[in-house]
Amino acid sequence: MPGEARSIQPRSGCKLSLGLFFLGVLLGGCAPPSGGRARLVSLAHESQPARRLGSRSPNATGQERLAYRVQIDPQLTRVDVDVCPRGFRIERLNAPSPNAERLLEAGRVITPQGDYPCPDDGVDLPLSQPDECLHYSVRVPEESPDPTSVRRVGADLLASPDVWLWIPTPRPEHLLTTVRFSLPEGVFAAVPWPISKPVPVPVPDLALSLGSGLGSGLGSGSGSGSGSAEHGAGAEPGSGTGTGTGTGTGVSTDLDYVLPETAFAWKSAGGFGHAPLLRLSAPGGAQLRVAMLGEVEHPRELQEWLVQGARASSLLFGHFPLREALVIAVPVERSGPAFGMALRGGGPSVVILFDRHTTSAALSQDWTSTHEFLHLGVPRLAPEEAWLFEGLATYYSEVTRARAGIISPRQAYQHLLDGFERGRKNAGALTLREESAQMRERRSFYRVYWAGAALAFLTDVAARRAGGPTLDSALRSFAECCAASEQAFSAERVLAQLDASLGAPHFTTQAQRWLDRREFPELDGVLRRLGVAPGRRGAAIFGRTPEASIRDAIMARAPASNGSPTEPQSQPQQPE
Ligand SMILES: [Zn+2]
Repeated sequence: MPGEARSIQPRSGCKLSLGLFFLGVLLGGCAPPSGGRARLVSLAHESQPARRLGSRSPNATGQERLAYRVQIDPQLTRVDVDVCPRGFRIERLNAPSPNAERLLEAGRVITPQGDYPCPDDGVDLPLSQPDECLHYSVRVPEESPDPTSVRRVGADLLASPDVWLWIPTPRPEHLLTTVRFSLPEGVFAAVPWPISKPVPVPVPDLALSLGSGLGSGLGSGSGSGSGSAEHGAGAEPGSGTGTGTGTGTGVSTDLDYVLPETAFAWKSAGGFGHAPLLRLSAPGGAQLRVAMLGEVEHPRELQEWLVQGARASSLLFGHFPLREALVIAVPVERSGPAFGMALRGGGPSVVILFDRHTTSAALSQDWTSTHEFLHLGVPRLAPEEAWLFEGLATYYSEVTRARAGIISPRQAYQHLLDGFERGRKNAGALTLREESAQMRERRSFYRVYWAGAALAFLTDVAARRAGGPTLDSALRSFAECCAASEQAFSAERVLAQLDASLGAPHFTTQAQRWLDRREFPELDGVLRRLGVAPGRRGAAIFGRTPEASIRDAIMARAPASNGSPTEPQSQPQQPE
């Protein structure tokens, strides 16, 4: 309720409605484009982002800080959060995703002046003072409609910060925002944020600031004050980046995560588990920080599959496209390929839901890990431009797995032919541009994924035919410059950069030709010239044609690694 000076009388009339918890707009992510049923997921952050994010204000000193202190109970059902500004006041606290306010304990935000009850999508705090901490608690539901957001996994919990990390506004420009956890013994946090050395934070004042207000209505089981006892706990801060959150019984780890603004702006992944995070090496010296939630029947096989995906995707970019990424592996009851989603909020992450009974054989044929890691080579695009980011990942999922020797070139082409056919069958109602913008609502995943893959394929062939730089090399250059960007890109900008590398507007030409048409892109002529025809038993038939060399070059096996720095290691390195 923006703009409304709220009553600060304590009340508890806002009943928790976990059963009604619903993250709002349902959007589809990486639905399987080549089998399995499409899943609906929520991209809660896409709804009204400007209002939720609030505004920025000029900083007064450049020393402004915002410190979160996050505590979770041993059962992992409730997250207690202190939010402490320094050098400014919090005028309003916004829900981090639609309907997240329904999870607020007693429906209130606690301040030294009293409780602010029943917030809507946020609560104005007209009486707050500079440097004054707020407190709230979140009851985490068992599950959310978005399978990558919240889910109880045995004794562990998948819980995106989009559910529990409320957003103060306005925030000074260049604000340093940190998060420190106080976790039960044996519990580890999995979040995508970078870790810094401990940053001086205003937490020591918290007990005082909260305590001064307790007499005016703050009592009653709020669980406040979690930030008061941590100092001196002395957990090792680790050696710079990437060490995991340690443990302690209600004791701080003294590790500070530093939040980029994208932690508020874009959908994020997160979780709490009882196993230390693993570090897996990816090509080029990159690291995957892997949280395995719940009971994983075949953890070793799963790790090998993740490394396989990292290696295959790296064959496009020359190495893993980012220095580090968080992977949260969630065993579930499902059949068929895994379901994954690559996220950018707060840092790169991939959430993968996989069949808890899966076998090594099934995993070796599952494209999901390759597909999700391919997404990390391209910066964030708006959801309506799914044709581009899903098209690239879908096309190269087949190409890079062939290059890695996971599937044969004939299998890869047959997968492409099958996918193109699915896309063609689902074309006709809307233009590709319209369909891409409405993909989640209309569940037109096949059309959008595979039409996008067709455009990537046509561009790849056109560039190779022209004899100039390949789409591979253009994507490699683009990943070097932009994969880690914290800015969202437009499809137009991505195409312009790729075409600049290609030396000709190959991709833009294809996009302009097909984006505003209802028909699926025409491929017959290109396939005929390449000598690719549908075959039986999952393998395409190759003919002798003038452009067969282009066909073969696209899928050509990568040179065997000789122990160079790009060689992946399938061994888990060290527990995090
Ligand atoms: Zn995808």
